[in-house]
Amino acid sequence: MDGKARATLTDAEASFLVDFRRDLHMHPELAWEEHRTAAKVAEAARQAGLEVREGVAGTGVVAVLRGSGSSPSDGVRRTILIRADMDALPLQEAPGRPYGSTVAGRMHACGHDAHTAMAITAAKVLARQRGTLPGNVVFAFQPAEETDGGAAPMIAAGALLEPRVDAAIAIHLANTIQVGQIAAQPGPVSAATDGFVIVIRGKGGHAARPHLSVDPIAVAGQIITALHTLMTREKSPAQPGVLTIGAIHGGTAGNIIADTCELRGTLRTYDPALRTELRRRVVEVVEGTAQTFRATASLEWDGGAYPPCVNDAVITDLVRSVAGKVVGHGNVVTQEPSLGGDDMAYFLEAVPGCYMRLGSANASRGIDGPGHSPRFDIDEDCLPIGVNVLVETAWAYLAGQSEN
Ligand SMILES: [Zn+2]
Ligand SMILES: [Zn+2]
Repeated sequence: MDGKARATLTDAEASFLVDFRRDLHMHPELAWEEHRTAAKVAEAARQAGLEVREGVAGTGVVAVLRGSGSSPSDGVRRTILIRADMDALPLQEAPGRPYGSTVAGRMHACGHDAHTAMAITAAKVLARQRGTLPGNVVFAFQPAEETDGGAAPMIAAGALLEPRVDAAIAIHLANTIQVGQIAAQPGPVSAATDGFVIVIRGKGGHAARPHLSVDPIAVAGQIITALHTLMTREKSPAQPGVLTIGAIHGGTAGNIIADTCELRGTLRTYDPALRTELRRRVVEVVEGTAQTFRATASLEWDGGAYPPCVNDAVITDLVRSVAGKVVGHGNVVTQEPSLGGDDMAYFLEAVPGCYMRLGSANASRGIDGPGHSPRFDIDEDCLPIGVNVLVETAWAYLAGQSEN
Protein backbone atom coordinates (compact mmCIF):
# COMPACT_ATOMS: atom_id res chain seq x y z
CA MET A 1 0.00 0.00 0.00
CA ASP A 2 1.33 3.39 -0.91
CA GLY A 3 -0.83 5.55 1.34
CA LYS A 4 -3.21 6.58 -1.43
CA ALA A 5 -6.11 5.01 0.50
CA ARG A 6 -7.35 3.32 -2.64
CA ALA A 7 -9.91 1.39 -0.66
CA THR A 8 -11.78 4.44 0.60
CA LEU A 9 -15.39 3.75 -0.29
CA THR A 10 -17.49 6.21 -2.23
CA ASP A 11 -20.69 7.27 -0.47
CA ALA A 12 -22.64 5.04 -2.84
CA GLU A 13 -20.42 2.03 -2.06
CA ALA A 14 -20.65 2.66 1.68
CA SER A 15 -24.44 2.70 1.64
CA PHE A 16 -24.56 -0.27 -0.75
CA LEU A 17 -22.46 -2.18 1.79
CA VAL A 18 -24.79 -1.56 4.73
CA ASP A 19 -27.97 -1.99 2.66
CA PHE A 20 -26.71 -5.27 1.22
CA ARG A 21 -25.83 -6.65 4.64
CA ARG A 22 -29.18 -5.61 6.15
CA ASP A 23 -31.10 -7.09 3.25
CA LEU A 24 -29.33 -10.44 3.70
CA HIS A 25 -29.87 -10.20 7.44
CA MET A 26 -33.61 -9.80 6.89
CA HIS A 27 -33.69 -12.76 4.49
CA PRO A 28 -31.51 -15.49 5.99
CA GLU A 29 -31.19 -18.76 4.09
CA LEU A 30 -29.94 -22.05 5.48
CA ALA A 31 -27.09 -24.14 4.07
CA TRP A 32 -27.59 -25.24 0.45
CA GLU A 33 -30.70 -23.04 0.21
CA GLU A 34 -28.90 -19.74 -0.44
CA HIS A 35 -30.79 -19.13 -3.70
CA ARG A 36 -31.91 -15.56 -3.10
CA THR A 37 -28.55 -14.59 -1.61
CA ALA A 38 -26.64 -16.14 -4.50
CA ALA A 39 -28.86 -14.43 -7.06
CA LYS A 40 -28.30 -11.04 -5.42
CA VAL A 41 -24.55 -11.60 -5.29
CA ALA A 42 -24.42 -12.70 -8.92
CA GLU A 43 -26.45 -9.71 -10.06
CA ALA A 44 -24.25 -7.23 -8.19
CA ALA A 45 -21.08 -8.87 -9.49
CA ARG A 46 -22.37 -8.78 -13.07
CA GLN A 47 -23.33 -5.13 -12.71
CA ALA A 48 -19.79 -4.43 -11.55
CA GLY A 49 -18.51 -6.05 -14.74
CA LEU A 50 -17.14 -9.30 -13.31
CA GLU A 51 -17.35 -12.69 -15.05
CA VAL A 52 -19.88 -14.66 -13.03
CA ARG A 53 -20.27 -18.43 -12.71
CA GLU A 54 -23.46 -19.42 -10.88
CA GLY A 55 -24.54 -22.78 -9.54
CA VAL A 56 -20.98 -23.75 -8.59
CA ALA A 57 -21.53 -26.69 -6.21
CA GLY A 58 -25.22 -25.93 -5.80
CA THR A 59 -25.74 -22.35 -4.71
CA GLY A 60 -22.11 -21.18 -4.91
CA VAL A 61 -21.09 -18.20 -7.01
CA VAL A 62 -17.64 -17.51 -8.46
CA ALA A 63 -17.00 -13.98 -9.76
CA VAL A 64 -13.76 -13.15 -11.55
CA LEU A 65 -12.23 -9.70 -11.90
CA ARG A 66 -9.34 -9.53 -14.37
CA GLY A 67 -7.23 -6.48 -13.74
CA SER A 68 -5.91 -4.70 -16.79
CA GLY A 69 -3.07 -2.81 -15.10
CA SER A 70 0.51 -3.48 -16.09
CA SER A 71 2.26 -6.38 -14.36
CA PRO A 72 4.17 -5.76 -11.13
CA SER A 73 7.91 -5.14 -11.24
CA ASP A 74 8.75 -8.85 -10.87
CA GLY A 75 6.65 -9.54 -13.96
CA VAL A 76 4.46 -12.13 -12.24
CA ARG A 77 0.72 -11.72 -12.71
CA ARG A 78 -1.01 -13.17 -9.69
CA THR A 79 -4.55 -14.16 -8.73
CA ILE A 80 -5.91 -13.84 -5.22
CA LEU A 81 -9.20 -15.33 -4.03
CA ILE A 82 -11.52 -13.62 -1.55
CA ARG A 83 -13.92 -16.04 0.05
CA ALA A 84 -17.25 -15.31 1.72
CA ASP A 85 -19.77 -17.74 3.16
CA MET A 86 -23.49 -17.07 2.67
CA ASP A 87 -25.51 -19.40 4.92
CA ALA A 88 -27.55 -18.58 8.03
CA LEU A 89 -28.46 -20.69 11.07
CA PRO A 90 -31.62 -22.43 12.27
CA LEU A 91 -32.12 -20.03 15.18
CA GLN A 92 -34.84 -17.60 16.28
CA GLU A 93 -33.45 -14.07 16.44
CA ALA A 94 -34.02 -11.94 19.54
CA PRO A 95 -36.63 -9.29 18.64
CA GLY A 96 -36.18 -5.53 18.45
CA ARG A 97 -33.94 -4.82 15.48
CA PRO A 98 -35.07 -2.62 12.61
CA TYR A 99 -33.46 -5.04 10.15
CA GLY A 100 -34.23 -8.24 12.04
CA SER A 101 -34.79 -11.58 10.36
CA THR A 102 -38.15 -11.84 8.61
CA VAL A 103 -38.01 -15.64 8.61
CA ALA A 104 -39.10 -17.46 11.77
CA GLY A 105 -36.43 -19.77 13.14
CA ARG A 106 -33.73 -18.49 10.75
CA MET A 107 -31.01 -16.03 11.60
CA HIS A 108 -27.67 -14.74 10.40
CA ALA A 109 -26.12 -15.36 13.81
CA CYS A 110 -22.58 -15.96 12.57
CA GLY A 111 -22.11 -12.80 10.49
CA HIS A 112 -22.13 -14.49 7.08
CA ASP A 113 -24.46 -11.71 5.88
CA ALA A 114 -21.64 -9.27 6.64
CA HIS A 115 -18.97 -11.50 5.06
CA THR A 116 -20.96 -11.63 1.84
CA ALA A 117 -21.70 -7.89 1.85
CA MET A 118 -18.03 -7.00 2.45
CA ALA A 119 -16.80 -9.30 -0.32
CA ILE A 120 -19.29 -8.06 -2.93
CA THR A 121 -18.52 -4.45 -1.98
CA ALA A 122 -14.79 -5.17 -2.29
CA ALA A 123 -15.59 -6.51 -5.77
CA LYS A 124 -17.26 -3.23 -6.69
CA VAL A 125 -14.35 -1.15 -5.36
CA LEU A 126 -11.73 -3.28 -7.12
CA ALA A 127 -13.80 -3.29 -10.33
CA ARG A 128 -13.70 0.51 -10.28
CA GLN A 129 -9.90 0.25 -10.07
CA ARG A 130 -9.44 -2.58 -12.56
CA GLY A 131 -7.65 -0.37 -15.10
CA THR A 132 -4.58 -0.26 -12.85
CA LEU A 133 -5.03 -3.55 -10.98
CA PRO A 134 -1.89 -5.63 -11.65
CA GLY A 135 -3.53 -9.08 -11.48
CA ASN A 136 -6.82 -10.93 -10.91
CA VAL A 137 -9.20 -11.25 -8.01
CA VAL A 138 -11.55 -14.23 -7.74
CA PHE A 139 -14.52 -13.97 -5.39
CA ALA A 140 -15.90 -17.24 -4.05
CA PHE A 141 -19.32 -17.01 -2.41
CA GLN A 142 -19.85 -20.39 -0.87
CA PRO A 143 -22.82 -22.31 0.51
CA ALA A 144 -23.14 -24.30 3.69
CA GLU A 145 -20.22 -23.32 5.88
CA GLU A 146 -22.34 -24.12 8.93
CA THR A 147 -23.16 -27.70 7.96
CA ASP A 148 -21.18 -30.02 5.73
CA GLY A 149 -19.28 -27.38 3.81
CA GLY A 150 -19.55 -25.77 0.40
CA ALA A 151 -15.85 -25.01 0.08
CA ALA A 152 -14.59 -28.47 -0.90
CA PRO A 153 -17.28 -29.03 -3.58
CA MET A 154 -16.65 -25.53 -4.97
CA ILE A 155 -12.95 -26.33 -5.29
CA ALA A 156 -13.85 -29.64 -6.92
CA ALA A 157 -16.05 -27.68 -9.33
CA GLY A 158 -13.09 -25.54 -10.39
CA ALA A 159 -13.31 -22.45 -8.16
CA LEU A 160 -9.50 -22.28 -8.05
CA LEU A 161 -9.10 -22.53 -11.83
CA GLU A 162 -9.53 -20.13 -14.74
CA PRO A 163 -7.76 -18.15 -13.59
CA ARG A 164 -5.56 -20.34 -11.42
CA VAL A 165 -5.67 -18.98 -7.86
CA ASP A 166 -2.34 -18.37 -6.07
CA ALA A 167 -3.52 -17.28 -2.62
CA ALA A 168 -6.75 -16.90 -0.64
CA ILE A 169 -8.06 -14.67 2.13
CA ALA A 170 -11.26 -14.55 4.15
CA ILE A 171 -12.74 -12.54 6.97
CA HIS A 172 -14.80 -13.85 9.84
CA LEU A 173 -16.47 -11.43 12.21
CA ALA A 174 -15.65 -11.84 15.87
CA ASN A 175 -17.53 -10.47 18.84
CA THR A 176 -14.66 -11.62 21.01
CA ILE A 177 -12.79 -8.51 19.84
CA GLN A 178 -13.92 -4.91 19.55
CA VAL A 179 -14.78 -3.04 16.38
CA GLY A 180 -11.59 -1.48 15.05
CA GLN A 181 -9.47 -4.52 15.89
CA ILE A 182 -8.32 -7.29 13.57
CA ALA A 183 -6.83 -10.63 14.56
CA ALA A 184 -4.60 -12.56 12.18
CA GLN A 185 -1.87 -14.97 13.08
CA PRO A 186 0.09 -17.70 11.32
CA GLY A 187 -0.56 -21.37 12.01
CA PRO A 188 -3.80 -23.09 12.95
CA VAL A 189 -6.70 -20.72 13.60
CA SER A 190 -9.66 -23.08 13.55
CA ALA A 191 -9.96 -26.71 14.47
CA ALA A 192 -10.59 -30.01 12.77
CA THR A 193 -14.26 -30.65 13.52
CA ASP A 194 -15.28 -34.28 13.91
CA GLY A 195 -18.99 -34.56 14.63
CA PHE A 196 -20.37 -37.89 15.81
CA VAL A 197 -23.54 -39.75 16.73
CA ILE A 198 -23.52 -42.46 19.38
CA VAL A 199 -26.39 -44.93 19.62
CA ILE A 200 -26.58 -46.92 22.85
CA ARG A 201 -28.72 -50.03 22.75
CA GLY A 202 -30.02 -51.47 26.01
CA LYS A 203 -33.15 -53.39 26.84
CA GLY A 204 -36.31 -51.55 27.79
CA GLY A 205 -38.59 -52.40 30.68
CA HIS A 206 -40.25 -51.24 33.88
CA ALA A 207 -38.55 -48.47 35.81
CA ALA A 208 -39.01 -50.42 39.03
CA ARG A 209 -37.18 -53.51 37.71
CA PRO A 210 -33.92 -52.20 36.27
CA HIS A 211 -32.19 -55.54 36.93
CA LEU A 212 -34.40 -57.13 34.29
CA SER A 213 -33.50 -54.39 31.79
CA VAL A 214 -30.37 -52.72 30.44
CA ASP A 215 -30.76 -48.99 30.97
CA PRO A 216 -29.21 -47.06 28.05
CA ILE A 217 -29.69 -43.72 29.81
CA ALA A 218 -27.59 -44.83 32.77
CA VAL A 219 -24.99 -46.05 30.28
CA ALA A 220 -25.14 -42.68 28.49
CA GLY A 221 -24.22 -40.98 31.77
CA GLN A 222 -21.19 -43.26 32.14
CA ILE A 223 -20.14 -42.69 28.54
CA ILE A 224 -20.31 -38.90 28.91
CA THR A 225 -18.19 -39.04 32.05
CA ALA A 226 -15.73 -41.45 30.44
CA LEU A 227 -15.33 -39.25 27.34
CA HIS A 228 -14.66 -36.17 29.46
CA THR A 229 -12.15 -38.15 31.47
CA LEU A 230 -10.48 -39.24 28.23
CA MET A 231 -10.07 -35.60 27.21
CA THR A 232 -8.52 -34.51 30.52
CA ARG A 233 -6.42 -37.62 31.31
CA GLU A 234 -5.10 -38.76 27.93
CA LYS A 235 -4.56 -35.48 26.08
CA SER A 236 -1.72 -33.17 26.99
CA PRO A 237 -3.17 -30.06 28.60
CA ALA A 238 -0.80 -28.07 26.40
CA GLN A 239 -2.50 -29.29 23.24
CA PRO A 240 -5.76 -27.70 22.10
CA GLY A 241 -8.69 -30.08 21.92
CA VAL A 242 -12.25 -30.27 23.17
CA LEU A 243 -15.11 -32.75 23.14
CA THR A 244 -18.70 -31.67 23.71
CA ILE A 245 -21.86 -33.76 23.84
CA GLY A 246 -24.42 -31.24 22.61
CA ALA A 247 -27.54 -33.38 22.37
CA ILE A 248 -28.98 -36.40 24.14
CA HIS A 249 -32.21 -38.14 23.24
CA GLY A 250 -33.72 -41.22 24.82
CA GLY A 251 -36.79 -42.41 26.60
CA THR A 252 -40.43 -41.38 26.67
CA ALA A 253 -41.55 -41.41 30.31
CA GLY A 254 -40.18 -41.37 33.84
CA ASN A 255 -41.42 -44.88 34.65
CA ILE A 256 -40.11 -46.62 31.55
CA ILE A 257 -36.58 -47.80 30.92
CA ALA A 258 -35.79 -46.94 27.32
CA ASP A 259 -34.50 -49.32 24.67
CA THR A 260 -32.03 -46.87 23.17
CA CYS A 261 -30.39 -43.52 23.77
CA GLU A 262 -28.66 -41.29 21.26
CA LEU A 263 -25.85 -38.81 21.92
CA ARG A 264 -24.56 -36.23 19.45
CA GLY A 265 -21.32 -34.41 19.90
CA THR A 266 -18.22 -32.94 18.35
CA LEU A 267 -14.49 -33.47 18.77
CA ARG A 268 -12.21 -30.50 17.96
CA THR A 269 -8.45 -30.67 17.52
CA TYR A 270 -5.59 -28.99 15.65
CA ASP A 271 -2.89 -31.61 15.60
CA PRO A 272 -3.41 -34.39 13.01
CA ALA A 273 -1.74 -37.06 15.17
CA LEU A 274 -3.79 -36.11 18.21
CA ARG A 275 -6.90 -36.09 16.05
CA THR A 276 -6.25 -39.64 14.82
CA GLU A 277 -5.48 -40.90 18.32
CA LEU A 278 -8.52 -39.29 19.93
CA ARG A 279 -10.84 -40.52 17.18
CA ARG A 280 -9.62 -44.05 17.90
CA ARG A 281 -9.89 -43.70 21.68
CA VAL A 282 -13.35 -42.10 21.60
CA VAL A 283 -14.70 -45.17 19.81
CA GLU A 284 -12.92 -47.53 22.24
CA VAL A 285 -14.22 -45.67 25.27
CA VAL A 286 -17.79 -45.59 23.96
CA GLU A 287 -17.86 -49.27 23.03
CA GLY A 288 -15.98 -50.40 26.12
CA THR A 289 -18.09 -48.41 28.57
CA ALA A 290 -21.31 -49.72 27.04
CA GLN A 291 -20.00 -53.26 27.24
CA THR A 292 -19.06 -52.82 30.90
CA PHE A 293 -22.70 -52.13 31.70
CA ARG A 294 -24.20 -54.84 29.44
CA ALA A 295 -25.24 -52.49 26.66
CA THR A 296 -23.89 -52.05 23.17
CA ALA A 297 -22.97 -48.76 21.56
CA SER A 298 -21.95 -47.73 18.10
CA LEU A 299 -20.40 -44.45 17.00
CA GLU A 300 -20.59 -42.90 13.56
CA TRP A 301 -18.51 -39.93 12.50
CA ASP A 302 -20.18 -37.24 10.39
CA GLY A 303 -19.09 -37.17 6.79
CA GLY A 304 -18.65 -33.39 6.82
CA ALA A 305 -15.68 -33.09 9.19
CA TYR A 306 -13.47 -30.08 8.39
CA PRO A 307 -9.69 -30.14 8.61
CA PRO A 308 -7.98 -27.43 10.68
CA CYS A 309 -7.69 -24.01 9.05
CA VAL A 310 -3.98 -23.14 8.87
CA ASN A 311 -2.74 -19.65 8.01
CA ASP A 312 0.34 -19.22 5.83
CA ALA A 313 3.08 -17.18 7.52
CA VAL A 314 3.92 -14.99 4.50
CA ILE A 315 0.36 -14.09 3.50
CA THR A 316 -0.55 -13.54 7.16
CA ASP A 317 2.38 -11.13 7.51
CA LEU A 318 1.07 -9.23 4.51
CA VAL A 319 -2.46 -9.13 5.97
CA ARG A 320 -1.14 -7.91 9.33
CA SER A 321 0.86 -5.15 7.73
CA VAL A 322 -2.08 -4.04 5.56
CA ALA A 323 -4.47 -4.26 8.53
CA GLY A 324 -2.06 -2.16 10.58
CA LYS A 325 -2.28 0.60 8.02
CA VAL A 326 -6.10 0.43 8.05
CA VAL A 327 -6.76 0.23 11.81
CA GLY A 328 -3.41 1.17 13.35
CA HIS A 329 -0.76 -1.37 14.24
CA GLY A 330 -1.81 -1.46 17.89
CA ASN A 331 -5.20 -2.76 16.81
CA VAL A 332 -3.84 -5.77 14.96
CA VAL A 333 -4.05 -8.40 17.65
CA THR A 334 -3.32 -12.05 18.18
CA GLN A 335 -6.24 -14.11 19.45
CA GLU A 336 -6.29 -17.31 21.34
CA PRO A 337 -6.75 -19.92 18.59
CA SER A 338 -10.37 -21.00 18.30
CA LEU A 339 -11.67 -24.55 18.37
CA GLY A 340 -14.46 -23.47 16.11
CA GLY A 341 -14.32 -24.99 12.65
CA ASP A 342 -14.45 -23.33 9.26
CA ASP A 343 -14.24 -24.91 5.84
CA MET A 344 -12.03 -22.06 4.65
CA ALA A 345 -9.62 -24.82 5.70
CA TYR A 346 -10.05 -26.43 2.25
CA PHE A 347 -9.05 -23.26 0.42
CA LEU A 348 -6.02 -22.92 2.72
CA GLU A 349 -5.07 -26.55 2.13
CA ALA A 350 -5.06 -25.84 -1.61
CA VAL A 351 -3.28 -22.46 -1.64
CA PRO A 352 -1.45 -20.32 0.94
CA GLY A 353 -3.63 -17.74 2.60
CA CYS A 354 -5.01 -16.09 5.67
CA TYR A 355 -8.27 -16.37 7.59
CA MET A 356 -8.58 -13.26 9.72
CA ARG A 357 -11.03 -12.16 12.37
CA LEU A 358 -12.58 -8.72 12.23
CA GLY A 359 -13.75 -7.20 15.50
CA SER A 360 -17.51 -6.54 15.44
CA ALA A 361 -18.34 -6.09 19.14
CA ASN A 362 -18.88 -2.74 20.76
CA ALA A 363 -19.20 -3.00 24.52
CA SER A 364 -20.16 0.67 24.88
CA ARG A 365 -23.19 0.07 22.65
CA GLY A 366 -24.12 -3.24 24.26
CA ILE A 367 -23.14 -5.21 21.15
CA ASP A 368 -21.49 -8.26 22.62
CA GLY A 369 -23.79 -11.23 21.98
CA PRO A 370 -21.76 -14.29 21.01
CA GLY A 371 -21.92 -15.87 17.57
CA HIS A 372 -24.58 -18.59 17.18
CA SER A 373 -26.76 -16.90 19.82
CA PRO A 374 -30.11 -15.12 19.33
CA ARG A 375 -28.51 -11.93 20.70
CA PHE A 376 -25.70 -11.86 18.13
CA ASP A 377 -25.41 -8.45 16.50
CA ILE A 378 -22.57 -6.45 15.05
CA ASP A 379 -21.32 -2.88 15.07
CA GLU A 380 -21.67 -2.08 11.38
CA ASP A 381 -18.66 0.25 11.61
CA CYS A 382 -16.65 -2.95 11.12
CA LEU A 383 -17.97 -3.35 7.57
CA PRO A 384 -15.97 -0.64 5.74
CA ILE A 385 -12.88 -1.68 7.73
CA GLY A 386 -13.29 -5.20 6.41
CA VAL A 387 -13.72 -3.99 2.84
CA ASN A 388 -10.60 -1.83 3.15
CA VAL A 389 -8.54 -4.75 4.39
CA LEU A 390 -9.77 -7.03 1.60
CA VAL A 391 -9.12 -4.42 -1.09
CA GLU A 392 -5.72 -3.33 0.20
CA THR A 393 -4.56 -6.91 0.77
CA ALA A 394 -5.55 -7.76 -2.79
CA TRP A 395 -3.57 -4.78 -4.11
CA ALA A 396 -0.54 -5.57 -1.95
CA TYR A 397 -0.53 -9.23 -2.95
CA LEU A 398 -1.04 -8.58 -6.64
CA ALA A 399 1.75 -5.98 -6.54
CA GLY A 400 4.11 -8.70 -5.34
CA GLN A 401 4.59 -7.32 -1.84
CA SER A 402 4.36 -10.79 -0.30
CA GLU A 403 7.61 -11.67 -2.07
CA ASN A 404 9.65 -8.95 -0.38
ZN1 LIG B 1 -21.00 -20.22 12.52
ZN1 LIG C 1 -19.31 -18.46 10.60
